[in-house]
Amino acid sequence: MVSMAHSSSVPVRKPLVLGNWKMNGSRVFNAELLAGLRSLGPFDADVGVCCPFPYLSDVALSLQGSGIGWGAQDCSFHESGPYTGEVAAAMLAEFGCTYVLVGHSERRVHHGESDQMVADKARVALSHGLTPIVCVGESSSEREAGLTDSVVKRQLSAVVHTLGHCVSQIVVAYEPLWAIGSGLTATPEQAQAVHSVLRTQLAAASTRAGEMRLLYGGSLSPSNAQAMFAQPDIDGGLVGGASLKAAEFSAVCRAAKSVALEFSGKLKT
Ligand code: PEP
Repeated sequence: MVSMAHSSSVPVRKPLVLGNWKMNGSRVFNAELLAGLRSLGPFDADVGVCCPFPYLSDVALSLQGSGIGWGAQDCSFHESGPYTGEVAAAMLAEFGCTYVLVGHSERRVHHGESDQMVADKARVALSHGLTPIVCVGESSSEREAGLTDSVVKRQLSAVVHTLGHCVSQIVVAYEPLWAIGSGLTATPEQAQAVHSVLRTQLAAASTRAGEMRLLYGGSLSPSNAQAMFAQPDIDGGLVGGASLKAAEFSAVCRAAKSVALEFSGKLKT
């Protein structure tokens, strides 16, 4: 979601903060978490939660009309058919999903998802009106070997080639693998450097790259979110562990809000 600053036609990107519950929760736990989240809103940022498939119906019922969106953590790159255990993007759309994560590192690592599979998932998601959150990121050994930029560029390149100019409709989440669930966060400067590389790559593919939202993910918490969101190319976050606690997640969402106000009118490209 993009608005224009008053004084010029400079796009101001509305922050987006998404929770990734991973394989956590129960119907009772979720109801309590979502009630907490609803009571702590509304938020100035766009906010959503990506829950396990079986909970989509409950989450939709709970969040309907709250201003908080919801989505899933994966989808198939097939439309439908004999793919046991897979979930189609069309099914997610039926449950009112706005977002779907694709290419989370836990899918790439544990389920052998290739860059092209991730790109195809993004294509199918878009064709069903979902916003794919395309996750990219390097491992610690790749960072140590100086390969960070080439790894994330390779991952994004498959998506750019598959989507063409439609790439402007995705959200990209930079999530260094070594920062996910580890308590180790990239410094704001490290994250900004990668975000800048990604936006430059997107700008070569789309004239709308300046309007696209690029998220940071990896051990985000209320104590580090504000500094991260203050970076010029970081437009919000993908939050794992902290999204399972209403107070922590809403504090991260509020950090995005305060920075948005502070930076409104600033060219963030
Ligand atoms: C994630 O799973 O996308 C994530 C960023 O997890 P965490 O915040 O727990 O590091």
